[in-house]
Amino acid sequence: MANYDYDLFVIGAGSGGVRAARLAAVSGARVAVAEEHRVGGTCVIRGCVPKKFMVYAAEFAHHFKIAGGYGWTVGESSFDWPAFIAEKDKEIARLSGIYVRNLQNAGAELVHGKARLVDRHTVEVAGHGMVTADKILIATGGRPWMPQDLPGAEHAISSNEAFHLKELPKRIVIAGGGYIAIEFAGIFNGLGVETTLIHRGPNVLRGFDDDVRAHIAEEMEKRGITVVLGTQHTKIEKTDAGYVSHFSDGHHCESDVVMFALGREPYTDGLGLKEAGVKLGENGAVVVDTYSRTNVENIWAVGDVTDRINLTPVAIREGQAFAETEFYDRATSFDHEMVALAVFSQPPIGSVGLSEAEARHQYGKVDIYLSRFRPMKYAFTGGDERCLVKLVVDAASEKILGCHVVGPDAPEMIQMAAIAMKMGVTKPQWDSTCAVHPTLAEELVTLREKHVPQGLGAAA
Ligand SMILES: Cc1cc2nc3c(=O)[nH]c(=O)nc-3n(C[C@H](O)[C@H](O)[C@H](O)COP(=O)(O)OP(=O)(O)OC[C@H]3O[C@@H](n4cnc5c(N)ncnc54)[C@H](O)[C@@H]3O)c2cc1C
Repeated sequence: MANYDYDLFVIGAGSGGVRAARLAAVSGARVAVAEEHRVGGTCVIRGCVPKKFMVYAAEFAHHFKIAGGYGWTVGESSFDWPAFIAEKDKEIARLSGIYVRNLQNAGAELVHGKARLVDRHTVEVAGHGMVTADKILIATGGRPWMPQDLPGAEHAISSNEAFHLKELPKRIVIAGGGYIAIEFAGIFNGLGVETTLIHRGPNVLRGFDDDVRAHIAEEMEKRGITVVLGTQHTKIEKTDAGYVSHFSDGHHCESDVVMFALGREPYTDGLGLKEAGVKLGENGAVVVDTYSRTNVENIWAVGDVTDRINLTPVAIREGQAFAETEFYDRATSFDHEMVALAVFSQPPIGSVGLSEAEARHQYGKVDIYLSRFRPMKYAFTGGDERCLVKLVVDAASEKILGCHVVGPDAPEMIQMAAIAMKMGVTKPQWDSTCAVHPTLAEELVTLREKHVPQGLGAAA
């Protein structure tokens, strides 16, 4: 066997790369990880974690608003953005430090710099020279896609910059209909920013259940977000007062910040994948099989760079499966079925399995159980906020194919639902579970009446 500097070289110290590197190193393998930015990757540095802190910060506004219904008098409240950002950054630095220590404790070597494949066994890390490795794992993640050709696009920020704005804007225009756009709209709106969400599609959150999509758009508007669908930017103009967004429907909107959350792309620029002969898909994602193997025998890829399901726990599990297969002699592939999703919108969403449309397409006849109701918490507040719970059930086998919740704590609930659904739970088994009272979640196990969607009639 050839003599390499390392048994494994990982490019990217994010969710997937760190998990794979740590496990491989613990097995006794000689492992190095290159990171060009900060250890922890998107999730820790500019994704899930700082985003969730922002969501927590923003939620206070709603609590203050409804507190009066419960007899509270809340004094004048104000929000200190720089103080919050400083606290957030402190915590992110702490978490990144834990990632570094975990890698070191496992015995993996960390190399700071941008890595590039020179050939299938050689990696060059900027400022560190070349090293060779028996196996190479690409875990470089993704990055925001920005419409470079749009006039004035250089004035727009992405989610990366949203975490570091010097001051909280008074007005923001957010373009996009995916979960990142929805979450940031909720964050800025909650923090008192006049928020306009622009999306070119007919509704937000493409791929989610249509009832969830319609419900969240309505709830966002109730919270004060202006949601404008069916239009998109044609130009951004800088003025003395800020920016003017021009839209394809002829309207325009002034704001202090324009944020694009129009999707993310696999980050493979300058990685030397061509030189190593690694095949990329049409969207630039590294093409892999169920074991995360690329077409090059000694190169694997996990996480967002493969554009399968772009979520942290998925990247972690893919990294883990790779390490178990290659360093523990336990052939393991991650099963991408029934991965639960959360959107930390306000109110939040939890979703697992198929949407009604997908289920009808795949299974033909499905039964729908759906309830919309006012959460108990808002009983005294006079608000018109509504929750939604929905089950999609295969009519023939009674297997639950989809579970969708919009309302307080929906992301916490959906984790539990995902366990049962992963085990193939049927509606009678689900219903045999005794409710926990008084909770919002109990609605899930007390859905008895089949819902007939409008326009489908008895034939549905
Ligand atoms: C705003 C936002 C919110 C999100 N919220 C959630 C959420 O709530 N829940 C959830 O599950 N997921 C969320 N995600 C998605 C999640 O962050 C990603 O799915 C996850 O981080 C992917 O992990 P990864 O290991 O594939 O890549 P990453 O975590 O992106 O790590 C890749 C690392 O590789 C480094 N790198 C890239 N190229 C090189 C190179 N050539 N040399 C050296 N280093 C390199 C990068 O600097 C980076 O640190 C969010 C993402 C964003 C942007």
